[in-house]
Amino acid sequence: MSTIMNSLPDPLPEFFDCGCSDIYYCPQAGEVEYPRHGGFDVCCDALDQHIPLHA
Ligand SMILES: [Zn+2]
Ligand SMILES: [Zn+2]
Repeated sequence: MSTIMNSLPDPLPEFFDCGCSDIYYCPQAGEVEYPRHGGFDVCCDALDQHIPLHA
């Protein structure tokens, strides 16, 4: 049985799909982040754990 380290939670937290291609889920924050939207700040320093929602 293989373990996928970066996997989306099931179920996903509710999020607004604004259509941006670069929104992603942050496991550390437990939230979907929207880098293109106003006021975005870096959610954590584990960038390699981010999971793009529109890969
Ligand atoms: Zn957007
Ligand atoms: Zn993060």
